[in-house]
Amino acid sequence: MSPLFSTLHSRSFYLVGLARSGLACARALQRAGADVVVWDDRDSTQQAAMTEGFTLAPPEQLDTTTLDSVILAPGIPLTHPIVQWAHATGLEIISDLELFFRLYEPERGDKNGDKTPRFIGITGTNGKSTTTVLTTHILRQAGLSVSCGGNLGTAVFDLPDPGPEGLYLLELSSYQLDLCHRLNLDAAVLLNISPDHLERHGDMSKYSAAKAKIFAHQTPSDIAFVSLDDDFSRQIFDGLNSTGQQQVVPLSVTTRVARGLFAVAGTLHDDYFDSRQKTLNLAQNPALIGTHNHQNALAAYGICRVLGLTDTAIERGLQSFSGLTHRQEPVLNTAALRVINDSKATNIDSARRALASFDPVVWIAGGQAKDKNFHRLTPLPSSVKAGFFIGECAGQMAQELGKNLPETTISHTLEQAVQPALATAERLYRTTGTQVNVLFSPACASFDQFHSFEERGDHFKALVHHYRSKGSVQ
Ligand code: ADP
Repeated sequence: MSPLFSTLHSRSFYLVGLARSGLACARALQRAGADVVVWDDRDSTQQAAMTEGFTLAPPEQLDTTTLDSVILAPGIPLTHPIVQWAHATGLEIISDLELFFRLYEPERGDKNGDKTPRFIGITGTNGKSTTTVLTTHILRQAGLSVSCGGNLGTAVFDLPDPGPEGLYLLELSSYQLDLCHRLNLDAAVLLNISPDHLERHGDMSKYSAAKAKIFAHQTPSDIAFVSLDDDFSRQIFDGLNSTGQQQVVPLSVTTRVARGLFAVAGTLHDDYFDSRQKTLNLAQNPALIGTHNHQNALAAYGICRVLGLTDTAIERGLQSFSGLTHRQEPVLNTAALRVINDSKATNIDSARRALASFDPVVWIAGGQAKDKNFHRLTPLPSSVKAGFFIGECAGQMAQELGKNLPETTISHTLEQAVQPALATAERLYRTTGTQVNVLFSPACASFDQFHSFEERGDHFKALVHHYRSKGSVQ
């Protein structure tokens, strides 16, 4: 445990929500000798917390006069009665991440003092995990000490201390950013904003405002990387650019930007760090297929340049990145078929990007709609030759998108969709002689039929391998 944790000793917190990050924070507070009372609405979690020796209490049993703050798990809706109670009692509500950052704040404020790890954050509607893991991969390969986590993987309070020369590389969701008030990042990235999580934030302007908090406390020595490729991100870029609060670097995969980083036709151009407009080829690595992955690569490149990596080191890392499971993950590759599991595509924009990345495509999609505006997927690229729709919104997707598709099937479940989709792809291959992509990119959440996108993706892969082993896939 870092010596910084000693500042938590005897301080008093009410921690609400004991899933992964809440539990990690509660344990760290307990180890540091803080006075922590916890709460979770779920009976089974309460039992587990008591077994671990935590003190549990509902809010009405607390002495609020001694409390420092309420630490709220990001997943708890802001309409929860405990949030209203905290507001009514005037208590500050923060996330575990904010508390973690505050531990480092005194040392970070003292620019002439001891070195402390840098804090780097990545947000966006889509691409956060890919960019965080890609950047970590490049930096580690170049020998830097990186503690990577946050919304992805390890909760901040479980992260190893990367040491004074190292860095925390954090994936940050809008839910977490909503509960941060002083977070100051040395480098921060906004990849994109498209409709998502509106049940939490209410509308797009509030969702955008939560995302923009990633830049709120940066100073002139800090750097912001902001995409120009959607209206919401561009507005945030314009706002930052006009204040001069921090250095601002535009990113684009749709247009050439002066004094920025951009990618055209699979080539990254650096017109910010390198006056010679350095270029790197992004098209060689199959784990970075599609302009959306080029957007992720631009952000990773930018962070690596800030941390002093050479072009050669960055290029080596970009080329050796192997991708993440459930994000355009290759499942099968034969002469006739390439099968891709993109189960993490739980919103419309991520599926739209996947559809634009492969040609020709037999598409499997559907599930629980987060956003019923499927017309945002139209016009579908002409490369999409057939659609198989599953889950709660199968009928609606078929109706809205079928007029754009040569073949449409309502399959309801993956069991019913996978074999006919493979058979359709093989038939197309026999007529054209071109390899056909069977793409599972749902554009919907998984919760109607599965516990998680991981379970859904694993099920898809198991079905593909099952039909392959039965010899019904060539
Ligand atoms: P997040 O962590 O933001 O959910 P992931 O990296 O896990 O993002 O990817 C989620 C989905 O979005 C996957 O289907 C992936 O292929 C797609 N995706 C990845 N990067 C981007 C991007 N920059 N823009 C749009 N979609 C993306």
